[in-house]
Amino acid sequence: MSVPRTGSAPTGGDFEAVIGLEVHAQLLTASKIFCGCSTAFGATPNANTCPVCLGMPGVLPVLNRQVVTFAIRLALATHCTIASRSRWARKNYFYPDLPKGYQISMYELPIATAGYVDTVVDGTPKRVHLTRIHMEEDAGKSIHDAHGDASLVDLNRTGVPLLEIVTEPDIRSTAEAGAYLRTLRAIVQYLGVCDGNMEEGSFRCDANVSLRRRGVETLGVKVEIKNLNSFRAVERALAHEIERQTDILEDGGSIIQETRLWNADREVTRSMRTKEFAHDYRYFPDPDLLPLTVDQAWIDEVRSTLPELPADRRARFAAQYELPAMDAEVLTARKDLADYFEAALESHQSPKAISNWVMGELLRVVRERHLDDDARITDWPVSPRHLGELVRLIDDAVISGTIAKTVWQEMLDSGKPPEAIVNERGLVQVSDRAAIESIVNDILAANTDKVAEYRGGKDKLFGFFVGQVMKATKGTANPGLVNDLLKEKL
Ligand SMILES: [Zn+2]
Repeated sequence: MSVPRTGSAPTGGDFEAVIGLEVHAQLLTASKIFCGCSTAFGATPNANTCPVCLGMPGVLPVLNRQVVTFAIRLALATHCTIASRSRWARKNYFYPDLPKGYQISMYELPIATAGYVDTVVDGTPKRVHLTRIHMEEDAGKSIHDAHGDASLVDLNRTGVPLLEIVTEPDIRSTAEAGAYLRTLRAIVQYLGVCDGNMEEGSFRCDANVSLRRRGVETLGVKVEIKNLNSFRAVERALAHEIERQTDILEDGGSIIQETRLWNADREVTRSMRTKEFAHDYRYFPDPDLLPLTVDQAWIDEVRSTLPELPADRRARFAAQYELPAMDAEVLTARKDLADYFEAALESHQSPKAISNWVMGELLRVVRERHLDDDARITDWPVSPRHLGELVRLIDDAVISGTIAKTVWQEMLDSGKPPEAIVNERGLVQVSDRAAIESIVNDILAANTDKVAEYRGGKDKLFGFFVGQVMKATKGTANPGLVNDLLKEKL
């Protein structure tokens, strides 16, 4: 890579990255899309199956109405046009985890088209247009190397409903891709249609990446990257792929249209297969299912029950809790974080102070423990009620801000309520003037030489005396009182 890159360009020098993303969001319906089997994650392999999702001869699919309602919900939240008539199609391919030999999906007539998602990248607004949203069924899972040489198949996931959300090639950098995905995940979580859990595969992303010379309109040859199961994976894989293609193009080579798999451990992509084309799948309308009709009444009904979306909640947080724009933005970027914040407020009404703890200490722990791809707030180390109680102890001057950090650390380790920790370890702030005065006297008496130096003009020794008092009181002395008393006596 000898060609110099231009300054702050998001991708390599002469070339510009063109990225489109396809997200598969697993829906939070109780049952599968075309049969009554449970969609629960983690059941005994093949327990959640029946003749329909096993693809037995002669069975007929029956559409789950809730799946369509969820699709309409997302289509409305992403400003799509909803088709009054859409059609199911069979996507034909052979794989052991697909017992029917085809996947029921939508092809020429998807349920929703031409929408958009607004996001913010490094403070700049960015609109990503959506080509389409369609419904489809998930395939099963192959488990390799579990039993010596044998490969096993688990069909529990077969027929679990998915929404596929496809963007236009609007994305130009890894940062934009990350911002779009986080916003989209927040939207599906707010809507309650998907839990957004990337680790368990209920929010999955494939990326199409091509490069073109800056100023050129024509799109380059694209490569599809699969197996991106965390935000970090998406960002690292895209950066890696942009670099790989840049190297090839700069050396005068050409890009092959193919599908590549991201290896998160080695941080490389490897070729999985040369790219198939749509006609390879022999799509045709599914003769077992009627075209889907969605009337205005259904759309209106769904619209009337839409929950508060991220942008609305952000505005409400700024107004209702008088939070700075930055706080409102960070707190509402995830639904569970916003819920956490509001739950903490129930035990103590001090919005800005609680916001500071959530944005500072809590999010730091979440990042350190890699909890940021996982949507389950129950896994978080400190409950919202305990955080609220901690902030109340500070506001009531029971403990100082410094002691609060110690208490917080123990809350993380033990999960105990802050008040119990403060009592057990005797961390209650001492604001008793007489008690502190006696300690101050002792310290001054034990350090007569330093007292003389201080009085002789060595001002910076003041910090030494403060430190000695805090040490003697194990940090529990009220810092304001300590300062006042020392000034008085020195
Ligand atoms: Zn079934």
